[in-house]
Amino acid sequence: MKFCNQCGQPLMQTIPAGDNRLRHVCSHCHRVHYQNPRIVAGCLPVWGEQVLLCRRAIEPRRGYWTLPAGFMENGETIEQAAARETLEEACARVRDLNLYTLFDLPHISQVYMMFRAELVDLDFAVGEESLEVRLFAEEEIPWSELAFPTIGRTLECFFADRRQNLFPVRNEALEALRAHYRPR
Ligand code: ZN
Repeated sequence: MKFCNQCGQPLMQTIPAGDNRLRHVCSHCHRVHYQNPRIVAGCLPVWGEQVLLCRRAIEPRRGYWTLPAGFMENGETIEQAAARETLEEACARVRDLNLYTLFDLPHISQVYMMFRAELVDLDFAVGEESLEVRLFAEEEIPWSELAFPTIGRTLECFFADRRQNLFPVRNEALEALRAHYRPR
């Protein structure tokens, strides 16, 4: 961020009065431009014993497999964001969304919120941001070709929890994710 989106003048970094962090502040109109973590919302779409994955057509991690997920937009709920991303990336409709994994990624200022969801039908297709979309049984999951640790960890939790048919919400920070996540 270099210029003020209100008046176009250069921004400087300073700690505003009453604050305790460096902020981008306009040198001209003195508006403070706050930057806060971004929320990534997504789904783990389930069809019987299988789950739906997308192969990414965009960077980062182009060509790697992921669950449909993306940045939340203004004016939508987190569930709407997760369902919208699933529709955009996999042309798939989901229902019965249940919050399942919540990952804190402070090093990149992101929070991931992934929902377990039921695929409504098999009428899915390759979306704009995907190269390929398909269902995988547990033994078919391409563990070494997953795009992000958050995706691997969500899938790992899901297949473990499915054995007990109990799906507690998992809230983990990246450190825990690193310790637990081991690509197979
Ligand atoms: Zn300004």
